[in-house]
Amino acid sequence: MTAGTISRRLLARLRELMAQSAVPLSELAAVIAAEMVSEVCSIYALRPGEVLQLVATHGLRPEAVGRTRLRIGEGLVGLSAATGEILNLPDAQNHPAFAYRPETGEEPFAALLAVPVRRAGRMLGVVVVQNRAARLYAEDEAETLETVAMLLAEPLAAMTAGEPGGEDLATTLPRHFVATPLVAGLAIGTVVVHGLRPAPMRLLADDPAREQARLAQAVARMRRGIDQLIAASGDLPAAATTRDVLEAYRLVAEDAGWLRRVAERIAAGLTAEAAVERAASEVRERMRRINDPYLRERVADIEDLAERLLAALDAGAPEGVPPAPVPPGAILLARRLGPAHLLDWHGRGIAGVVVEEASAAGHAAIIARALALPMLGGVRDALAAAEPGDLAILDGDEGQLILRPAEDLRHAYLRAAHDRAARALAWAGLAGAPSRSRDGTPLRLMINAGLTQELAALDRVGAEGIGLFRTEIAMLARGRLLDVAEQAALYARVLDAAAGRPVLFRTLDLGGDKLLPDADAEAAENPAMGWRSLRVGLDRPALLRRQLRALLLAASGRPLSVMFPMVATVAEFTAAKALLLAERERVRPAPARLSIGSMIEVPALLWQIDGLLAAADFVSIGSNDLMQFLFAADRGAPALAGRYDILSSPVLTLLEALARRAAAALVPLSLCGEAAGEPLVALVLAALGITTLSMNAAAVLPVKAALAAVDLVAFRAVLETLRRQAGDVASLRGPLDAWAREHDVPI
Ligand code: PEP
Ligand code: MG
Repeated sequence: MTAGTISRRLLARLRELMAQSAVPLSELAAVIAAEMVSEVCSIYALRPGEVLQLVATHGLRPEAVGRTRLRIGEGLVGLSAATGEILNLPDAQNHPAFAYRPETGEEPFAALLAVPVRRAGRMLGVVVVQNRAARLYAEDEAETLETVAMLLAEPLAAMTAGEPGGEDLATTLPRHFVATPLVAGLAIGTVVVHGLRPAPMRLLADDPAREQARLAQAVARMRRGIDQLIAASGDLPAAATTRDVLEAYRLVAEDAGWLRRVAERIAAGLTAEAAVERAASEVRERMRRINDPYLRERVADIEDLAERLLAALDAGAPEGVPPAPVPPGAILLARRLGPAHLLDWHGRGIAGVVVEEASAAGHAAIIARALALPMLGGVRDALAAAEPGDLAILDGDEGQLILRPAEDLRHAYLRAAHDRAARALAWAGLAGAPSRSRDGTPLRLMINAGLTQELAALDRVGAEGIGLFRTEIAMLARGRLLDVAEQAALYARVLDAAAGRPVLFRTLDLGGDKLLPDADAEAAENPAMGWRSLRVGLDRPALLRRQLRALLLAASGRPLSVMFPMVATVAEFTAAKALLLAERERVRPAPARLSIGSMIEVPALLWQIDGLLAAADFVSIGSNDLMQFLFAADRGAPALAGRYDILSSPVLTLLEALARRAAAALVPLSLCGEAAGEPLVALVLAALGITTLSMNAAAVLPVKAALAAVDLVAFRAVLETLRRQAGDVASLRGPLDAWAREHDVPI
């Protein structure tokens, strides 16, 4: 067998056997065992009741066929089916999941390779080979068995189809999934599933040359499609970033590596369709083991391309015919999703998207945010549990996906959606109004941004500027550092869009979990507290200086504000400031005014506050990080979400003191963590004297509406009483919430 390819002889034999009207599974098992030089080959089929039944074997006792049954998750076979992963074990019987079945007579076999059999995302069974000698199977052996598993999907699907009781009860009951909210919002509609093509009917080809020609045509067609998509992206609200993301995607499309793998599989005897599926699933398996979010996003790109290639191979889909629209409110479910497909689906009218494996910094999430499309990620098994056409509720605020909701829940969510639409309409009228509380206290509401497509929100919500521009986001979207000219062009676009309103550019906050693909960072045990952010900038001053130069160039004589993240000591701040001042001497025209500020994110700064306020032109509280370090609670850990509250006595005491000190030193203070976008928190912050708040753009109008409804003087007294009464209680949120509701404050 040649490395990486399945043998033509095996494919030819399998083709003969599969052509028979009733596929002889035991003969198939014998052929596979012989070809793979393994003593055992067994085939397990998924039966009603989530049970895997041994349906054929070569090498185990024949009387076990039909008798040996394992539940999903039970034993190694059940484990492979439950996780959907390949198991390659030199010493299977000592694996903790091994389940002994005496009737099989498998005691002598040490090594085991198990591959799940799936079709269109559905688990159908597991194929296993075993050997006496303890050994790890080679990569090409695993690939061969994966190809075999793909071929076995057809007979196993036929076997379960039409069986009494085969209808899975689990797909008719309501199901509730807790997910990672990636883009806020609510969608209620029917499920559509991404990548739900019928599995290719023809897997084995008679004429490889013809298949290679079909592949070449399809690749050309796919490339034309991507070019069209890039050309059309100019009309989208997110034009610039969308184009950047698509350009990166085109590079993946041009990468000859995976197309060569497809061609190799065709040469071995697979049809072009089967070869594309195999190549994509190999990449998927390999990348699955890589724990880097950006590399994992490349998997989504490859899968997206594979889908495109399969569509291009499908003769029934002539070029240029737009895909059918989806039902109104449709919710797209996908295992992974690349940027191009998300744009396609958006064009077809989806109202929300759920991606099983998606990260907040992934391409799909970046695009979804730009399109204001509610999105959930990190939902395991949603696809397996859903049927196209099922009703679903996507709650992007609370991170919930509910499949087949009960009637009363559906009505409750419909009411919420209705209220939300009514509120949005009312808020839209607020955009032009000044932001002040009912008693007339002026407030500055600004937006947090990181991508050019978010700039349009400045005018849409009537924000007073950008209180936090996260410069690393554009680089994460493109997967690389930008050079000085590219950065300068980007920052100039931001300043142009702000049209004189202040923009607080935050220097690169990379490291920790925000890694570029080529970052040479070693895996750190506590990345959030590791070598990240300004620490990197000070240790690699060339990198920071390039960014500072780009900012000065972008300002080109206009006022410029720069702030440094993750400052832990005043000395760090002054060192960073010195770099900026040195760069200022080199750039002409110099900015009309240069304001240099510090984020307050590291608790140690709180005990250096006088020194900091003396050195900084402004400070901004990064409550996301400050909270995580104050309470030693990972901000990304779902298990800790909501456990510690910004509306608790210690934090309020701290924020109040900060506001007082900054006011006394005449240093502008703002807060730019996520909490600023919660109307109730914004009220409290304003009452404590923090009146400049920077938040995600969608929160500006709701916060404005809440503040406009409150007399801050009266509210301050209420807050003081509640704080006095509260003592050490973990959070004041309950009583504050009750007060706001009683006083008709829209929170
Ligand atoms: C923060 O930590 O509150 C903050 C605004 O910065 P980021 O969320 O980018 O870490
Ligand atoms: Mg931070």
